[in-house]
This record gives sequence, structure tokens and C-alpha cells, in this order.
Amino acid sequence: MRISIIGTGYVGLSTGIGFAYKKNTVTCVDVDKEKVKKIKSGVSPVYEPGLQEGLKRFLGKSFDVTLDLERAVKESEISFICVPTPSLPDGKIDLGFLKQASKDLGKVLREKDYHVVVVKSTVVPGTTENLVVPVLEKESGKKAGKGFGVCMNPEFLREGSALKDFLNPDRVVIGEYDKRSGDFLEKLYKNFKTQILRTSIKSAELIKYASNSFLAMKISFANEIGNFCKKLGIDVYEVMKGVGMDFRISPKFLNAGIGFGGSCFPKDVKALVYRIKEEGLKPALLESVLKLNEEQPMKIIEILKKRIRNLKGKNICVLGVAFKPDTDDIREAPSIKIVKRLLKEKANVIVYDPKAMENFRRLFPRIEYSDSARKALNGADACLILTEWNEFKNLNKKDFSSMRRKIIIEGRKILNIKEKEGVCW
Ligand code: NAD
Repeated sequence: MRISIIGTGYVGLSTGIGFAYKKNTVTCVDVDKEKVKKIKSGVSPVYEPGLQEGLKRFLGKSFDVTLDLERAVKESEISFICVPTPSLPDGKIDLGFLKQASKDLGKVLREKDYHVVVVKSTVVPGTTENLVVPVLEKESGKKAGKGFGVCMNPEFLREGSALKDFLNPDRVVIGEYDKRSGDFLEKLYKNFKTQILRTSIKSAELIKYASNSFLAMKISFANEIGNFCKKLGIDVYEVMKGVGMDFRISPKFLNAGIGFGGSCFPKDVKALVYRIKEEGLKPALLESVLKLNEEQPMKIIEILKKRIRNLKGKNICVLGVAFKPDTDDIREAPSIKIVKRLLKEKANVIVYDPKAMENFRRLFPRIEYSDSARKALNGADACLILTEWNEFKNLNKKDFSSMRRKIIIEGRKILNIKEKEGVCW
């Protein structure tokens, strides 16, 4: 099929390269000139395993990128909207990007034969039918279900393994405006070896929020038990291993630590909480999930301050700032709150991260950055591990030997040395 993709971020680019692997012809569109220029030159603007290789393989052949939305949509049969849906300061979903993309798309549909528009951005229930469809109808002068098709197809990929997840999904959810739209989209997923669930559009929208909220809840749950374990001198990882052996629970997302971050969990749980409240209900459980997660990053500071009461002028080495390993994404990463607090306490912060330092430097231009973990540790009074990068797993006693004091605190359980202390273990 000929596909256009509006928005070329983590999701859009992975979707684009993924569909190219599945033998489709793809044109990605973005409004960010720098991003488009970079991709055109064969460089992925985001770090994601496999994207660079995919670009090399398909660019100029079955994959293209452009600023020209009109051309991309005109030359395709189906368009995926993958634009951001961030949080407003009060937690409400910001639908500004989605509205603009729908307007731009709608105008092109005016002169097109039947075309299917797929919302892949994460949106609260009702958004596709109450915002996207009316905008498309107004701009195109056509009726949804007749002049064009509409689907909502949530994306479940994880950053750090985005392309792999896109190509090997647990399930594909197709929320369909009508049967014809759903059939059209299902054809595109025919050669994916997975289960396909066809639902109403609103169900598809909510499946994404309910899934993310459930996973976020598992993490906050593990952290609550973890904070209790810390008081009792119990290793929460041992506890969660036993808990996760129950097939009804599963061991996934039970890793206690400094809390969840990233571009999805915090904003999605907040948006769902806001939306539930709009209906006059009280999302007590989800509000607790968020509250626990707000407080969790500071647990590492509490432990640090028990060891060094006054942080002023102390060298604090921070290993890992990405919100999780294998990504350069720092959006809502716990590292941001932790570094802010260290700076407030007037500590000297030295950061090393294998991929995320460029992004972190934009937020914190004045702290020190190091090009290796070893160098960052040199002369440090304390070391905080905030991301479980594989390369930190191999750090040994010798690597820490250049520290001024051996205070090593893990926010993620990863080290194999005796001298460390964990945030919940
Ligand atoms: P992103 O910020 O990395 O990328 C979005 C891109 O859209 C940017 O490059 C931006 O310039 C572009 N854009 C904005 N308005 C545009 C317009 N009118 N026309 C063309 N391009 C436009 O975002 P992302 O992380 O890829 O997320 C996109 C959506 O997918 C969000 O709704 C997010 O919640 C959802 N999602 C994200 C993930 C994830 O892990 N990142 C996973 C599943 C779902």
C-alpha cells in the first residue's frame, strides 16, 4: 500500500520504517525542517535501535520524507496521524497538534478519491469522533464513512525497542468508524503475525489509556511495597520475584525504583484522570499512582542526605539520565527532578549517559558532562545510578575506585558490587 505518515517522531518514524519493512511505500511528513533535513540525509533524529539501518535500506527507494503534506497525502491511500498529544499544565490533553494535522489532511481529501485516515496518536475517548471527524468533514466537504474512512489504531511500542515492537506487536487494535474503514486498515496488517482486535473507536482510544495506566499502577505498586521493604531491610526484588511468579500477575513492570517517566505514562495517566473527573467521577486509584510517582524520585535524595548531610560543593556523579535504557528520551525522566534538587542544594553535578546527554544538556547547559562512566566517577563524593543501561551492569569495584567517597546509590537495580545501596532494597 502507499502510506503517508503525519508526524515523524518516535512513533511516526518507527511506523514508517516498519511499514517499509512490510513492503509498503511510505512517505513521512513533518513540520520540523531540521528533522526532515536530517532524515533526508539518512540520519535518524531520534536514537532507536534499528531505525538508522532501516533508513539506510529504504530511503530514496520505498521510504521518503517531506515537508509537503499535500503531496504525501495525495500520493497515498491511507494516512496515519502520529503527532504529539502532550499534557497542558492542569493535566488535560493538548489536542492542538492533532487539530492542525486534521485540518491540513482534510483540505487534501477534498480532491481525493476514497482515503482512510488513521489516528495513531494517543487520544482520550471521544477525540476521534468529536474532533478529528468533524474537522475532516468540514475541510474536505465530504462525509466520513462515504467520502473517506476513519480508524483509531493505538500504538503500544516501547521506546528503546520501538521498531522491533512495531513489527512484532502483542496485538493490533483497530477502532473503526465503519466496516469499510476497518477492513481497509486490517489489510495493511495482514502480514503481521499477531492477533487483531476490531472495536469501536472509543474503545480503541480507551484501550491505550487503560493499558498504560495499568502498567504505571504496577510500577507505583512495586514502589510502595519497595519503600516498605527499605524500612524492614528486605530486598523488594526478591519479593517481586515471588509475586511475579503468579501467572495472574506476571513479573513485568514490578521493578521498584525511582518511579516512571517518559513521554507516555505520566501524561497519559494525567489525561485519563482529567477526563474521568470531567464525567464527575473520582479516579482515586489513578490519582494515588501519580502521587506516589511524584514523590518517588526524592527517595534517592533522602538516602543520599543520610550519608552526606550538606551537599553544597560535593561532587555528585549521575549515571544515566534517559527515562529508560536504549533511548535518548528524557521527557519526564526522574533524573530531571533529581538533578534539579541536587543543584538547589548547590552540589556539583557530573552526568554521564550513553545516548541522552545531548537532550539533557539542552535542559541543564551549565552542569558538567563526561564522556564515560569511569571519568564521571573520578573524584566523586557520591554516585547515583538513575537509568539501567547495560553498560553500567559491568561496572566493577575498580571502576569506582577513583571516587573520593564510596557512596553508591542505585535508583535502578543493576550493579553487582557490595558497596552499593538501593533506593528500595
Ligand atoms: P514526538 O514528539 O517524538 O514526534 C511527533 C512529531 O510530530 C514531531 O516531529 C513534530 O514536529 C511532528 N508534528 C507536530 N505537528 C505536526 C503537523 N501538524 N504535521 C506534521 N508533523 C507534525 O512524539 P511521539 O513520541 O512520536 O508520540 C506521538 C504520539 O504517539 C503521541 O500521541 C504519543 O502519546 C503516542 N505514543 C507515543 C509512544 C512513545 O513511546 N513515544 C508510544 C505510543 C504512543
